[in-house]
Amino acid sequence: MSAHLLDLSTYCTNLDQPVFALHELPEEVVAVLFAYYSRSPLPLRDNLRRVLAEDLALMPGHTPTGDGAAEYAAAEERARAFHEKWVVGYGHGSVAEHAVVHLAVEEISIVASKALEDCRLASYTEKSTRYVPFDTESYVREPTIAAGPLASLYDETCRDLLSTYGRVLAASEAAARAEIERPAGWTQARYDSVCRSQACDVARYLLPAATRTNLGLTINARSLEHTLTKLYSDDLGEIRELAGALHREAAVIVPTLVKYAAPNAHLRGRRAAVEPWIDPQADAPPVPATNPARLVAGPAEPLSDVAAAILFEAGAGAWTTLRTLVAAWPAERQAELLTAYLRDRERFDAPGRALEQVTFSFELTLDYGAYRDVQRHRMCTQLGQVLDCRHGYETPPGVAAVGLVDDYHRALAASEAAWERLAEAHGPAAAQYVLPLAWRKRLLMTANLREWHHFISLRSGRQGHPSYRRVAQDCWHELHRAHPALAAGIRVDLADYDQARA
Ligand SMILES: Cc1cc2nc3c(=O)[nH]c(=O)nc-3n(C[C@H](O)[C@H](O)[C@H](O)COP(=O)(O)OP(=O)(O)OC[C@H]3O[C@@H](n4cnc5c(N)ncnc54)[C@H](O)[C@@H]3O)c2cc1C
Repeated sequence: MSAHLLDLSTYCTNLDQPVFALHELPEEVVAVLFAYYSRSPLPLRDNLRRVLAEDLALMPGHTPTGDGAAEYAAAEERARAFHEKWVVGYGHGSVAEHAVVHLAVEEISIVASKALEDCRLASYTEKSTRYVPFDTESYVREPTIAAGPLASLYDETCRDLLSTYGRVLAASEAAARAEIERPAGWTQARYDSVCRSQACDVARYLLPAATRTNLGLTINARSLEHTLTKLYSDDLGEIRELAGALHREAAVIVPTLVKYAAPNAHLRGRRAAVEPWIDPQADAPPVPATNPARLVAGPAEPLSDVAAAILFEAGAGAWTTLRTLVAAWPAERQAELLTAYLRDRERFDAPGRALEQVTFSFELTLDYGAYRDVQRHRMCTQLGQVLDCRHGYETPPGVAAVGLVDDYHRALAASEAAWERLAEAHGPAAAQYVLPLAWRKRLLMTANLREWHHFISLRSGRQGHPSYRRVAQDCWHELHRAHPALAAGIRVDLADYDQARA
């Protein structure tokens, strides 16, 4: 037996301070040790000593003295019994949050990546459509369609979109090189990257939702179990297969904590339960592309509520008293208090928590490329509708600039024709794979004012893609029309840039 495995300093960054970090421990052991905090009088290092004495076989690098497999199985069984008791038996699910898994997820479709990233209690980094080019074979075959009579229509449509994408990409990159002079002091690599990404921003509208992507996911076991259950219950075969793959690999790291993930009858039946209430004739006409955001819900007196929350946070009195007091103030006085509260913020300083007291909902009608980016915001509630052809598509000015606008419209029309046949045969969820990112999607996004500050300032920024910049700018305009004093405190970039990346 290696002595260092019994040495606490292998696992704790110090042995004599009240604050220390843990390392080299299996994720489920970390969760067990933290669970002991809630019921044991002993400090963590004493409990760790006990775990090491009883369950050393669980430690990576352990060399068994006798029957290694039996020793490991016994230790694993003790850990399983412990988690059953604490996580399942006691309804103490938060213990599982201390076990974290890093999963590399490759070659899934954008549709599947969106289903996965719908989980808000996790961290993601995904392959960018703004920096990385894609080739004609970079798409996923939706399993049900691939097994059916329209498989070749699906392949032809995806390849056509990706080859049109390739032509627009090459022409746009050449145009960017002709237009942008390499500034003194730039390396060739930086210049190449700017020209390439300028072209990616134009061409990405043609990428089908089936396009292959890669992402890194960091998630705790509690959140992962919930996500797996959701993905297992999805209508789409690729997403259910993804659930199986994630489950299998995560079980290597946190076997006990994700073992109950399974398809869920309630989730599976929810869409069908609502279906009889849907009247397709009742839909509103498409909104103009120039106004992607509409403010559709918010409180009656948000400025007054925020001002009262600022005073409450400062300890000025009881909520109902302050609310009545501030409601009687003139709006100018309420706005002055807000200005004082937001004063002296540096670029990365977030406004204070009092802004979370009020919540606004925007209905966004945005191209799927912009949606792909907007969906990544987690401090909000997003209700998305399945991607279809009801709301039209965007045409970036860049395609006309390189003389490929006819090719563009032809590829978009072909995607719509294929989508109609696929939706008829396989339903709208499967059919969306052949729609490129240019098609618009409807989303209801609800967030508190603090998150709208973050969203609008980040997404209107110069480095952003023009399509989500327009969404963020439009959110700001809508808010400004309804509540000018609230919008005035938000950092928004309303400029248009010809060469945003240069
Ligand atoms: C110019 C630009 C380029 C980008 N390029 C890429 C890219 O190539 N690939 C890619 O995957 N993404 C990219 N993104 C998306 C970006 O990484 C974020 O995922 C996205 O902007 C969501 O923003 P957020 O995480 O700040 O905010 P939200 O999810 O809206 O959260 C608001 C704030 O809450 C806090 N917060 C929320 N969740 C957590 C958490 N789990 N841990 C700690 N703090 C948290 C943070 O302070 C965060 O700013 C890009 C974004 C921009 C603007």
